[in-house]
Amino acid sequence: MEKLNQVLLNPALQVGPDLAAWLQAGGGLGLQAALNAPTTIIRQIADADLRGMGGAGFPAWRKWEATANAVGDNKYVVCNGNEDEPGTFKDRTLLSASPHQVVEGALIAALAVRAACVIFYINPHQGQSLQHMRLAVSQWQDSPWLDKLAAALGHPLAIKVVASSGRYIGGEETAVVASLEAGFPFPRKKPPFPAEQGINGQPTLINNVETLANVSHILRHGAAWYRALGVGKAGGTKLYSLSGDVLRPGLYELPMGTSLQELVFHYGGGMLQGKAFKAVFTGGPSNTLLTARDLDVALDFDSVWLRHSRLGTGAMIVISEGSSIIRKVAEYIDFFAKGSCGQCPSCKCGTFQLARLLDRVDGGRHSHADLDALQHLCQILPGSGRCGLIDGAVTVVKSSMHTFPQEYGLTAPAEA
Ligand code: SF4
Repeated sequence: MEKLNQVLLNPALQVGPDLAAWLQAGGGLGLQAALNAPTTIIRQIADADLRGMGGAGFPAWRKWEATANAVGDNKYVVCNGNEDEPGTFKDRTLLSASPHQVVEGALIAALAVRAACVIFYINPHQGQSLQHMRLAVSQWQDSPWLDKLAAALGHPLAIKVVASSGRYIGGEETAVVASLEAGFPFPRKKPPFPAEQGINGQPTLINNVETLANVSHILRHGAAWYRALGVGKAGGTKLYSLSGDVLRPGLYELPMGTSLQELVFHYGGGMLQGKAFKAVFTGGPSNTLLTARDLDVALDFDSVWLRHSRLGTGAMIVISEGSSIIRKVAEYIDFFAKGSCGQCPSCKCGTFQLARLLDRVDGGRHSHADLDALQHLCQILPGSGRCGLIDGAVTVVKSSMHTFPQEYGLTAPAEA
């Protein structure tokens, strides 16, 4: 099976925590290009149209520019490696197989925003990721690169690895800040955004692992090269975590904008046991479901948004005809209920109630009143939390009731 335009998963770059091998494979060239022209870095990231790969798809340069322009003597860059969402398994692969790719991107980001400290915030439940990042960072600390960066910045640059809380909600960026300030990872309302006021009140750039892994390649080969890797208007490549009822689940790096049809039926080998495609949980378990009518959708942030869903992390959890959507949704809502940090009563109680009701529906033990309660919760919960967890949970419940009303025993689709 061909692998198109592999950049991040290029086998030549999968050298593990071996800095000499990374530099021999062309590592360091992006950082050197950045050192040669530090004031152009953010422009190049903008021209490449690099997006936030952690789920939001927000243009990366906007956060970089906000952090660069914010006032602070001790700015931070945080590489968010807390990945803990069902169906997403891309960052752990990069961190363990190619950690220097991530470190180099973070160092370029530090140069761009003039940071004094880079923190790699890694999920401790992914033992090899944490171990390889610790080894990789220690090699950069002993290398001449940090001296070059200090000379360019006019101050020392500290780099370190910190084990995250390992909790799902700990990956939300304000929770990352709280956690790194040595507190419990409680999210807070935004604004202020971390780019303005993050760790210890300092401007803090927080980027996902995959986002940062792209950076050295853009600086090395140029924005036009990066954009040309994508399909249509979408630039670069994307890591798609494909799982569920497909013949060949796995992590695929493909041009950004590859169609859902191609991902599932060409790369994924089609459906298990020749069953029909029913739906896909796109971007993880907290977005609007796509169905067979959407197989032609280009898997890039803007195109999926036009179908009223989100590309999110690039996770695609495929469901075949004959499999229960409700069972999956119940499983995910149970995950959210257990992952809620509990500081907003509506989320703490609401996710628990949703999980309880879905369990009853899944077991066929529900009443009409239970369905009414589910729909009522979907109306009153959105917007009631300090972070997006409760909204994501409601989105997937509403979407399943709207798209598959018959599974709930509804006579008409629920409100979308
Ligand atoms: Fe915590 Fe939920 Fe409130 Fe988010 S919405 S801050 S997870 S209680």
